[in-house]
Amino acid sequence: MSGKKRKRLAPSATPWDGKADDELSPAEALVAASHRSMYEFRHSAFEGDAAFFNSYARDACPWCGSGSVIRFGIDKTGLQRYRCKTCSKTFTPATGTIFDDRKLPLSAWADFLVQVFSYESSNAMTREDRRSITTVPYWMAKLFSVLDGIQDGVVLSGRVQIDETYYPVPVAQAIAVDGKKLRGLSRNKLCIGVGCDSGGRSLFDWEGYGKTSGAKTWGAFGGHVEVGSTLAHDMEKGHRRLVRDLSLVSEEYSSKELARLPDKENPLRDVNRLCFLLKGFLDSHSGFDRADLPGYLNVFHVMMNDPADKMEKAAMVLDRAMSCPKTLRFREFYRRNP
Ligand SMILES: [Zn+2]
Repeated sequence: MSGKKRKRLAPSATPWDGKADDELSPAEALVAASHRSMYEFRHSAFEGDAAFFNSYARDACPWCGSGSVIRFGIDKTGLQRYRCKTCSKTFTPATGTIFDDRKLPLSAWADFLVQVFSYESSNAMTREDRRSITTVPYWMAKLFSVLDGIQDGVVLSGRVQIDETYYPVPVAQAIAVDGKKLRGLSRNKLCIGVGCDSGGRSLFDWEGYGKTSGAKTWGAFGGHVEVGSTLAHDMEKGHRRLVRDLSLVSEEYSSKELARLPDKENPLRDVNRLCFLLKGFLDSHSGFDRADLPGYLNVFHVMMNDPADKMEKAAMVLDRAMSCPKTLRFREFYRRNP
């Protein structure tokens, strides 16, 4: 180590600062220009982040829950700092959210969300943006935690169509008996209840494995269909309890009858289309862990429901992430599932 301390350059500096442009070689000029534009881009992006975060004023401590908090200066990234008078810890509006440990500007998150809502596959998202292979699963898990409960308040009404779609359990998790994979609607099929109504609302719920039943259908739709609505469906026995307990007007079609009709005359075409799109979406995340299925169904719900535009959906998710912070719980989840 030399005894002479090297002067540390500011992040925006280049070795050629103070020189006129015509004193630089073409190569030096190129490196300097690229460094400056990169710095400016990232810097202005982070500045925008501070305005976003600071718009969510905090009145409770994310560490201990106390409501006794005071403003405590601005941190080095421009975020409002708070101090808890109960536990003495400090925090910012980002503390306790999925953005707590962010290393990239929020624009990277906005980009990621638009990609997810565009049916981009996990592999493509990793490849195209030169993200590390651990980033996409990590961000998906964060997205799942933000969307947790997003379908809780969905109520379908008017003319409601329901159906089940069966999706194979990921190969690595399939159950074999005597060395043979089970066939048909077995434990190796994930049963997903899909419903939609005349108002354009839709619902996606994991019912379990294998064929649906009265209890499974009730579990998926019982709290999500308005009493007295019309239920358009196939002649699945498992739907009877739902019809009876919610006093629904049942509009039943046999699969034979449906098979004869062209698509645009099919009375269940809306729910059929959702089942078709859902399979395509799950295929684009092939090999997903079945434990993540509810998370993927919540993402798909966002894709199929208002707001209509992908960018509006991304904005809605960012707002939800700040309005219901969950990271502290999320971190524990991640410790259990590294
Ligand atoms: Zn506290």
